[in-house]
Amino acid sequence: MKPLVLYRVDLRAGDPASALERLDPAAPLLTGTDLAATRGDGVFETVVLVDGVPQAMEAHLDRFERSASLLELPSPDRVLWRTVVERVAAEMDVSRGAVKYILSRGDEATGEPTGWALGFAPTRHRTGVPPELDVVLLDRGYRSDVATTAPWLLQGAKTLSYAVNMAALREAGRRGASDVIFVSSDGYILEGPNSTVIARIDGEYVTPPVEFGILPGTTQADAFEALREGGDRVAVRALTVSDLSDADALWLCSSTRGAAPVRSLDGVAQHVDHATTERISAFLNARKG
Ligand code: PLP
Repeated sequence: MKPLVLYRVDLRAGDPASALERLDPAAPLLTGTDLAATRGDGVFETVVLVDGVPQAMEAHLDRFERSASLLELPSPDRVLWRTVVERVAAEMDVSRGAVKYILSRGDEATGEPTGWALGFAPTRHRTGVPPELDVVLLDRGYRSDVATTAPWLLQGAKTLSYAVNMAALREAGRRGASDVIFVSSDGYILEGPNSTVIARIDGEYVTPPVEFGILPGTTQADAFEALREGGDRVAVRALTVSDLSDADALWLCSSTRGAAPVRSLDGVAQHVDHATTERISAFLNARKG
């Protein structure tokens, strides 16, 4: 990913105007002792831009706040971060891009949180047409009650520690797939390494509950809106691995890809519902913010 726009966010500044400093996108940004770099200790969000407009901004800010709270970081100032995203978006000269914004616990030496935001054009999935996915189920190794029994494991927070998620995607590659659905150690469907699951079972579109230690998906929420608008039934409830084999269609939802249909699961071909995928994509691509 090559950033096109880069801003440093001074979290001690009194107002958004003085907090934002535009930098050369290729400029060095962090000190060698920033905890984002040395421990992955921070949180982030990635917002997609459609025709230059940031999508699902409030839902992303809600999740940013939730992640910061789980990590006991200072609560992000919504006005400041909204301004940051809008500023980066305004300076991006691409119709479909993304803005990633980051809050780090900061430099170990000063104990002051640091923030920055970068605008980039995703190298893949620029068109708004989601790819079809070959997916494998992988054990996440935590029970579905991990968020309450072991909150220090930070399941459900969008932290900078994505090394595990990336390792899972490499494992998918070794198994001839391109994506993953994580399963809890007690057999429940969780989420992808960077996506939310939707399964259609008996005509109902189902996504797992965030109480299982997964992220509240902003794209899945808007996909449910599209489905409800079309008269479909949607539900948030637990799904087991065997429920998934009863599903007649599956999607993995994420900001940059949209609702991507699953065309194979653990090597078994899955039915791709093109019409529903297009209906959700049309809704997502027509959002005004
Ligand atoms: N779950 C995880 C672990 C993610 O990293 C992401 C997105 O990055 C999602 C779900 C999907 O979230 P969204 O649709 O808001 O992009």
